[in-house]
Amino acid sequence: MKTAIVTGGSAGIGEATVRRLHHDGFRVITGARRLDKLEHITGPLDHATALSLDVTDPDSIDRFVADAVAAAGDDGIAVLVNNAGAALGLESVAEAREDLWQRMFELNVMGVLRMTKALLPQLIASGDGHILNVGSIAGFETYPGGGGYTASKHALRAVTRTLRIELLGKPVRVTEVAPGLVETEFSLVRFEQDAKRAKGVYSGMQPLTGEDIADCIAWAVTRPAHVNIDEILVRPRAQATATAVYREPTS
Ligand code: NAP
Repeated sequence: MKTAIVTGGSAGIGEATVRRLHHDGFRVITGARRLDKLEHITGPLDHATALSLDVTDPDSIDRFVADAVAAAGDDGIAVLVNNAGAALGLESVAEAREDLWQRMFELNVMGVLRMTKALLPQLIASGDGHILNVGSIAGFETYPGGGGYTASKHALRAVTRTLRIELLGKPVRVTEVAPGLVETEFSLVRFEQDAKRAKGVYSGMQPLTGEDIADCIAWAVTRPAHVNIDEILVRPRAQATATAVYREPTS
């Protein structure tokens, strides 16, 4: 049985990816900080394991990887979905909160780096490894107030592109799935649990769902081993750029 690791499986895109890869026949090992939420998701699923993980904490990653390797056993680990991530705040560069920028870089860039370094030997040893990084249209564009988040997702994209070149000749595929607006806990986290402000992000338009992105992820990781899907850029029909969003007028 092929084993996939999914970071940030306790909500949103990660949760949908855990369910979808499990449905598609993978053993899934997932990590996040809220272990209770993770266990609620994996509990009813065979061959699914929930482990505590904070990708900003190297000791937590060491423990997670040791436990994941043990849980996968002789099957090894073939797929790593680096999904855990967040946008924090919407201040202009002039008003930027350095603490939020640092947290975004720790999570969206350093977290992916650490997880990738820790699991790369396993992925290579599997003979058909795959690193799938969940980027964002924020890795392709910028928008006012998005400086810290877009900088971190541009950095993640650069790391992903670098890995694609560095792993040439090794049995590891590298993919970035870069979504536009997806309705998850993302905006709640961004606006510090302000539900009204978070809901406003998706008002008058139909955003993507976590399941839509899980569909892209599952498709990319189930292509034949010689097929590398480099990038999937996916947005709602109602979103043409980060800021060009068509909203139905509300009566
Ligand atoms: P979400 O619903 O807020 O889920 C984020 C997940 O990341 C949660 O499971 C959270 O779990 C986990 N996480 C946060 N900090 C973590 C840490 N330090 N260590 C381990 N796990 C951590 O958001 P989402 O929309 O599904 O976001 C998933 C990915 O998609 C992110 O990389 C995000 O940048 C990207 N993305 C989202 C959108 C969008 O519009 N939603 C668009 C483009 C890209 P815990 O809190 O339990 O740790």
